Amino acid sequence: MNKSKLSLALWLSAVLVTSAEAKATPFAIAIHGGAGTINKNEFPPEKQQAYKDTLQAAVNAGYQVLAQGGSSQQAVIDAVMVLENSPFFNAGVGAVYTHDEEHELDASIMLGHNRQAGAITGVKRIKNPILLANEVMQNSVHVMLSGQGAENFAIQQGYQLVDNSVFDTEHRYQALQRAKQKMLAKDQKQYQAKHLNLDSNYKMGTVGAVALDKHGNLAAATSTGGMTNKRFNRIGDAPIIGAGTFAENDSCAVSATGHGEYFIRYNVAADICARVKYQGLTIDNAANQVIHDVLLPVGGTGGVIVVDSQGNIAMPFNTAGMYRASKSSTGETQIKIFKDE
Ligand code: ASP
Repeated sequence: MNKSKLSLALWLSAVLVTSAEAKATPFAIAIHGGAGTINKNEFPPEKQQAYKDTLQAAVNAGYQVLAQGGSSQQAVIDAVMVLENSPFFNAGVGAVYTHDEEHELDASIMLGHNRQAGAITGVKRIKNPILLANEVMQNSVHVMLSGQGAENFAIQQGYQLVDNSVFDTEHRYQALQRAKQKMLAKDQKQYQAKHLNLDSNYKMGTVGAVALDKHGNLAAATSTGGMTNKRFNRIGDAPIIGAGTFAENDSCAVSATGHGEYFIRYNVAADICARVKYQGLTIDNAANQVIHDVLLPVGGTGGVIVVDSQGNIAMPFNTAGMYRASKSSTGETQIKIFKDE
């Protein structure tokens, strides 16, 4: 064989090995930046592009970890941190305001290979809540820590606490004022008694990520400021394993966004994975069933991102939009906001 034939043969075998490897070891990541009501007219193209750029940065951050052979755990953390650090989304900086004009943050993470999980709720001074949720999983014997206790744990683990005002943004403050106005306009007694001040017509913003790594391991992570105008230390689904976050290698990894009370009562993330595991449904069928056939009829609005152990991705929602993006080793990338995109 002459020299050029030899190098062609070597190049060909390298290409074949690489594509065979990609087939044998699929990997994938999907992220969301919240589902909810969104008016296309209030969302000019430049603004849409700015949101999409951030979604792209987040999905790329996670994808890079996976492409280099890193863990799905690290991929979901890195992706979620990009979104927590962006003022566009309701997690970390840009978190919604409580009724008392503060921010209370919830986050959780779960690993599919050993069903380890960590969660924090109602923290006020943790810059990246997903990091502390991960810390709880890795360095405590517990799954969920709340409020001041979670912050004390963070100090013990060497975290620097930040001032709650770090999470302030003007647009979220205005959203709180509008929610309060709306509340005043209604029958006060009924409103207070039933605590109807959570507007189910909420704006989007919770963030999450799900990933499959080259080692076949799934992970899911979710982080949120909860719902605008929340009171009484209300906690939503995001930090609740099985409701807002779930991962198990045998079925799928899920991160949810939407009206948390419904996602808790319908155990949404775990229900989707149970349908995959016990009924043999695809993630697409399982997730669509839960979002459209179970939640929607009872008034539960929102969506989920799901990945399975083959690297398939599903991102259904029953609201006007859901910020979402995905990228997989097959080369497919999606970055979308509205339903009709
Ligand atoms: N699920 C979140 C909660 O209820 C809110 C959201 O996803 O927008 O706290």
